[in-house]
Amino acid sequence: MAIGGFVLEGEGQAMSDGLRLPRFSVGVGDRFAHQAKAQLRACMMAGDAGVQVAPVWNKSNREHVILGSEPGATRAAADRAVREMGWTGPYFVDADHIGLKTMARFLEPCDFFTIDVAEEIGRPATARDVDAFAKRHAELVGEVRIPSIAQPFRTDADFVKGVANKFLTAVQTAGLIYRAIAENKGVGRFVAEVSMDETDSPQTPVELLIILAAIADEGIPIQTIAPKFTGRFNKGVDYVGDVAQFAKEFGEDVAAIAFAVERYGLPENLKLSVHSGSDKFSIYRAIHEAVTRSGAGVHLKTAGTTWLEELIGLAEAGGGGLEIAKEVYREAYAHAEELMGPYAAVIDIDRAELPLPQVVDGWTGEQYVAALRHDRANAAYNQSFRQLLHVGFKVAAKMGERYLRALEANEAVVARNVTRNLFERHIRPVFLG
Ligand SMILES: [Zn+2]
Repeated sequence: MAIGGFVLEGEGQAMSDGLRLPRFSVGVGDRFAHQAKAQLRACMMAGDAGVQVAPVWNKSNREHVILGSEPGATRAAADRAVREMGWTGPYFVDADHIGLKTMARFLEPCDFFTIDVAEEIGRPATARDVDAFAKRHAELVGEVRIPSIAQPFRTDADFVKGVANKFLTAVQTAGLIYRAIAENKGVGRFVAEVSMDETDSPQTPVELLIILAAIADEGIPIQTIAPKFTGRFNKGVDYVGDVAQFAKEFGEDVAAIAFAVERYGLPENLKLSVHSGSDKFSIYRAIHEAVTRSGAGVHLKTAGTTWLEELIGLAEAGGGGLEIAKEVYREAYAHAEELMGPYAAVIDIDRAELPLPQVVDGWTGEQYVAALRHDRANAAYNQSFRQLLHVGFKVAAKMGERYLRALEANEAVVARNVTRNLFERHIRPVFLG
């Protein structure tokens, strides 16, 4: 039974027009499935402050593989937190960055699927498909006027065909994956996102518009799309790039989406999904201004930040908690190459900046926290230290029960950091301004 436009916990019944992602939502990662309540509390604080933000617990296949965890555990933690906290709003569990080969074990527990087709970008489409696309979309050739974008885009047939050739295969693959999920779960029983962020070059707003036309042709009712934005989105650290350029393109992306919804009949709640890689504080204002100005929605994925708050909480707790935090660093330092490998494209670690483990072993909790907490105003903050720990969660996974027991023993201080970070530093600037 759906009430007030969303589905109640545990029932899994879609509304007649399908499961719907609200205007504002936040993708939170919970690597060890211990922070769902603390994260949910941040969404409750948003509600108290006057804005509804739906939590989406996302965990990628890559994370599950590194941790040896199962998507069902993410669902169980989310359901438990919702029950215990009495959350009555919508919430979702996201199969983040899945493809045909990896989707199977996500089908049952998840109701949000981030269909990752970045690898297919640039794989040439057939000439027939490209020509048919160009013929079908004469409106994309020439002067393309989009309400609220002052300067019309100027394109020609070659440009549109070039973009189609670059993206059609990816969109067709997304269609295959979408239909495979729909066959299993039922149409309208899940939220579909298409992600193209984990690729080398950003997509411009006009490219996004062409991609959306292709997605509509393919019949995928996406509610979120994650393009690659201009600038660097390294894991756990701030945005590196031209903030003004980002703001301009983000605003144009929002306008392109509104236009595509109208023109191509995509779901009216379609919105941008920002895969932040966590902590892109310097672009949060631009995002807030763009959605406020336009009335658009936004989905902010900021997953890895929570795992680092666990370490901050443990260090702050001192004693055995601090010892565990130091051990995580020691092991991460010893296995840096292996840990950095899968994330090579999204980290910039300066090895010379990494403190030696024997130095860290001598630190107080305050020193550890000062180096790790993302506070650029603090001279002791160390970006390389933070990034290495960001990708170092495998070390904690290897500790197994010992790490989990430390989280449980220090639950209050860890939860306080998780909630405060998520609410004050992410939810507030993006959704409340
Ligand atoms: Zn992503």
